[in-house]
Amino acid sequence: MTSGATISDPKLLDEYNPFLSMAKGFDQAADILGLDEGLREVLRQPERELKVSLPILMDDGSVKVFTGYRVQHNFLRGPCKGGIRFSPDVNLDEVRALSAWMTWKCSVVNLPFGGAKGGVICDPRELSEGELERLTRRYTVAIMDILGPDRDVPAPDMNTGEQTMAWIMDTYSMHVRRTTTGIVTGKPLAIGGSRGRREATGRGVMIAANQALQLKGWRPEDTRVVVQGAGNVGGIGALLMHREGYRVVSISDMYGAIHSERGLDMPAVMAWLRDHGRLEGFPDAESVTHKEQLELDCDLMVPAATENQITSLNADKVKAKLIVEGANGPTTAVASAALHDRGVMIVPDILANAGGVTVSYFEWVQDRMGYFWTEEIVNSRLEQIMVDAFDEVAAVAEQHDVSLRTAAYILSIDRVASVYRLRGVFA
Ligand code: GLU
Repeated sequence: MTSGATISDPKLLDEYNPFLSMAKGFDQAADILGLDEGLREVLRQPERELKVSLPILMDDGSVKVFTGYRVQHNFLRGPCKGGIRFSPDVNLDEVRALSAWMTWKCSVVNLPFGGAKGGVICDPRELSEGELERLTRRYTVAIMDILGPDRDVPAPDMNTGEQTMAWIMDTYSMHVRRTTTGIVTGKPLAIGGSRGRREATGRGVMIAANQALQLKGWRPEDTRVVVQGAGNVGGIGALLMHREGYRVVSISDMYGAIHSERGLDMPAVMAWLRDHGRLEGFPDAESVTHKEQLELDCDLMVPAATENQITSLNADKVKAKLIVEGANGPTTAVASAALHDRGVMIVPDILANAGGVTVSYFEWVQDRMGYFWTEEIVNSRLEQIMVDAFDEVAAVAEQHDVSLRTAAYILSIDRVASVYRLRGVFA
């Protein structure tokens, strides 16, 4: 898949810079809200950026130094919230943008959190389990002065998961001399995780798609879906959509994509992926490249892999009439505007993939209460929050005659700005 870090054409550098993409969306909404320049300045920049060097003892006895970041964009509405990603592509501008998107995401679904994001530059596929554990623990120690259940609560993101969160929780707890489950979310159930958290982002994507279908007047059975990514968001989202009756015609992983016009048997596809480690070779489907997949004939596209997948280079070839963004920043600002102009509806990332952080919020609440909910309660509360947020965003879009993305920014920036006005400038 294309990624921001590999772009060499200078003309595309700005388009592929996720922080500039975020700023574009922000400015558009700020103009409509008539936000004054001072407040814009406050809300555009992250409050705090931490860069850390992490010396790690490798299995072969050598020492390697990794670089990590934690960026806290804003904590006006509550503790910062946001994931930690492990990837060779991590860079400060990306983490900055992702931290700001977390502020807007938490605000769009009205959670009492601000936004943050963390990342470590590494290729987890090249690290042993022991090296990964040492890296995670060292990173936690390096950033823990700014973490805390009331300050900043990390969660999983790209290439991190329940085990990573368990190591973070343990490292933090050992240092503060008490088990502190509320320091991270996305933990295993046995140590304070929430039922339904693992599926939450995919479930939220499905709920967002259901709402968009209602606006369009489409039925799931007639909706051909292309899903980019088969991980926690794309894989689970595709499974749940298949169960809901959607016709999932294509799904991809990091190696390539598979396609079947008749529709894929998603439980069988996911079982194949589990057993073979890749989608390629799945019977009853043809192989297509990543590039071809995004140009397939379909009704709904769910980009659920990484940033900068739908860009000025391929936006005109996208045939979907509806895009539900499972990933953060999969459509560049330029492509998003072009697609909107030609009538393609985009349910933006900060709304469409907010299911994960919503159930993270439930996990944090449960940890603080020490009282855990059933999966039915988690799922029904998630549905309520996602549906309400979708309806609010759709109403703002209609009121201002703007895209759902601009409407989501308007709603979320307005909420943060009103808290700022109430609290005032601390001096
Ligand atoms: N990493 C996820 C996101 O981008 C989840 C964040 C969280 O649960 O705090 O929304």
